[in-house]
Amino acid sequence: MAVTQQQVIDVLRHVDDPELHKDLVTLNMVKQVVIDGGKVDITIELTTPACPLKEQIGNDVRRAVSALPGIKEVTVQFTANVQASPQQKAAENNPLPGVRHIIAVGAGKGGVGKSTIAVNVAVGLARQGATVGLLDGDIYGPSLPTLMGLDDLHVRTHGDNMILPFDVHGVKCMTIGKLVEAEKPLIWRGPMAHGAFRQLATQTQWGELDYLVIDLPPGTGDVPLTMAQLLPLTGAVVVCTPQKVAQDDARRAIRMFQQLQVPLLGVVENMSYFIGDDGKEYDIFGRGGAQAMAGQMDVPYLGGVPINMRLRANSDAGTPTANFEDDAQLARELQNVVGNLASQVSVLTHGGTPLQPTISVS
Ligand code: ADP
Repeated sequence: MAVTQQQVIDVLRHVDDPELHKDLVTLNMVKQVVIDGGKVDITIELTTPACPLKEQIGNDVRRAVSALPGIKEVTVQFTANVQASPQQKAAENNPLPGVRHIIAVGAGKGGVGKSTIAVNVAVGLARQGATVGLLDGDIYGPSLPTLMGLDDLHVRTHGDNMILPFDVHGVKCMTIGKLVEAEKPLIWRGPMAHGAFRQLATQTQWGELDYLVIDLPPGTGDVPLTMAQLLPLTGAVVVCTPQKVAQDDARRAIRMFQQLQVPLLGVVENMSYFIGDDGKEYDIFGRGGAQAMAGQMDVPYLGGVPINMRLRANSDAGTPTANFEDDAQLARELQNVVGNLASQVSVLTHGGTPLQPTISVS
């Protein structure tokens, strides 16, 4: 006799989401069970399309359902439904009600690759199927025109006071760099900085987004304060290079977010190491320094990104998609950061504890 849907669902009551620590049925992740003789096709709804545990969940489901009598084949399909953060749901007078998660990317100081990581996190999430926006909150030194290749594009408006975001590399993005003359120094007094950030964030027509990534100015100035007061953030990412001096600055950035009561989603160690032409890995800046600092500060570690000439060249050329296509190791490291970040966001939204982020060793 063929198995019934109920039998399949009962079995899935014993398969847990590895991070949310509840079973897939209780979490309402089992969306469809189709039985055709000895074949079963199951649709699982993930909390994020960038879920790094997709494979593990698929294997666990297949193993559990295959154990039922008469089952010859189990296939698992995935969909994703990103739910808004508790902060977003609870916010009163929310200026961005269509955005499910707002993720700020900050750094203790300039030049550590904060904008590069913000861009690649946004593009990486979009490549997994999420709807993503990217706001250049670095109103003093906007980098998105270059990093996202916006030079030849023109700003378009909607109605009297809304700006349409640029739609590039699968990401909707906006930057002050396209609203002012290029190369003009951007000098903002405190209240002007506040106003410029506010306008960029709230007068861009973002529409519905799973994730809005905000590239902050380096350091601990006015903009993070404005942002934390204005927007219901899911959390912040701090980018740091491994050296001691960089760690000291990153600690200050972490403390700033803590003071602003913005949850820390994690630390990314950029320029972690370098791979020479000889294939050897060189720890130029002392690989692991930012990771150790994250551990000391009790902040999750999201992964490391190597010093990579293609990453630099693709950034200058405004072609971030190539970072996920041309160099397998770079793509793996970036994807690792993207997956770990998406996990942290899901865990903050749904409860649970994230698995220890993986550190790739080649
Ligand atoms: P920040 O936003 O912290 O000021 P950027 O993201 O603008 O830093 O990066 C500064 C420079 O370093 C850019 O030219 C960028 O292309 C380069 N860069 C950043 N990360 C890496 C990396 N991992 N490998 C190679 N170049 C990098």
